[in-house]
Amino acid sequence: MLKKTAKTLLCLFLALCTVSALLTFGAAAAAGSGDADNDGRVTAADARLALRCSVGLETLGSSAKAAADMDGDGRVTAEDARRILRKSVGLPPEGQLTEKDLPADAKILYLTFDDGPSARTAEVLDILDRYNAKATFFVVNGYSYNYMYKEVVDRGHSIGLHSYTHEYSDIYRNTDAYFNDLNKISDAVYNVAGVRTNLIRFPGGSSNTVSRSYCRGIMSVLTKEVERRGYVYFDWNSDNGDATGVTMTAYEMYQTAVAYAGPSRLVMLMHDASYKGTTVKALPMIIEYYQSHGYYLIGLNENSPTAHHYVSN
Ligand SMILES: [Zn+2]
Repeated sequence: MLKKTAKTLLCLFLALCTVSALLTFGAAAAAGSGDADNDGRVTAADARLALRCSVGLETLGSSAKAAADMDGDGRVTAEDARRILRKSVGLPPEGQLTEKDLPADAKILYLTFDDGPSARTAEVLDILDRYNAKATFFVVNGYSYNYMYKEVVDRGHSIGLHSYTHEYSDIYRNTDAYFNDLNKISDAVYNVAGVRTNLIRFPGGSSNTVSRSYCRGIMSVLTKEVERRGYVYFDWNSDNGDATGVTMTAYEMYQTAVAYAGPSRLVMLMHDASYKGTTVKALPMIIEYYQSHGYYLIGLNENSPTAHHYVSN
């Protein structure tokens, strides 16, 4: 008798677990679906409803509100309306655009920022948002700014590994030293942003010769070894000149950057560092130029052009 009761209770418990799991799943599936009028489809009408709601012209019920809150920030905003509209016409979410989402002959500019996060990252991200442009951040240990790894990812940009210490004398001593440092920055990004990225950029690029003073031939080994381990490394085929020690004005930086316009794929090197204020100043002009000349600004992914340099150590 006792055994039977226990069995019944167990069955009841399991049934309750199943029901609660279904309810949880249902709630999660409903949140951020985009179907603001609950007609079972995500349409342009949903986007319009979300937009009206965002400016106070419409009041949505709680379930419709949950469905229209695409970014899960608790409010229905114009941003939500844009996401719903993209969904309604079958476009992928913004920030996750890849070459495949664009016309075959599209011109693409991949802005890349090395050496961040820094005191400048927030400004850079705000500028990119303003132009609805995406970029790639090859990051280092930015100490108190490391929380920005997550911000970069959440705002739809690509994140890549540059180095934890960026100390040439350490990382280019030998292969183990290089990978110890790479694993360290990979873990740091994972712990903050929750993503494992296989996009990397060597400090100094694959063509650097500074490594020669620490280990002859190391770049020839590393460029092959990183690929064997599943990483994709990126160099660049254009820049804004902010790596040179020469002091440039924002306008000179703009001129340097736009002189590369023409080719259909540009991977542009820039820097994200507290003392690179001019880079931030020049950024809007550079983006405006390229966008007005038909370039899409998207983040790098593992199938993007790598712009590899000639390895000379
Ligand atoms: Zn660097």
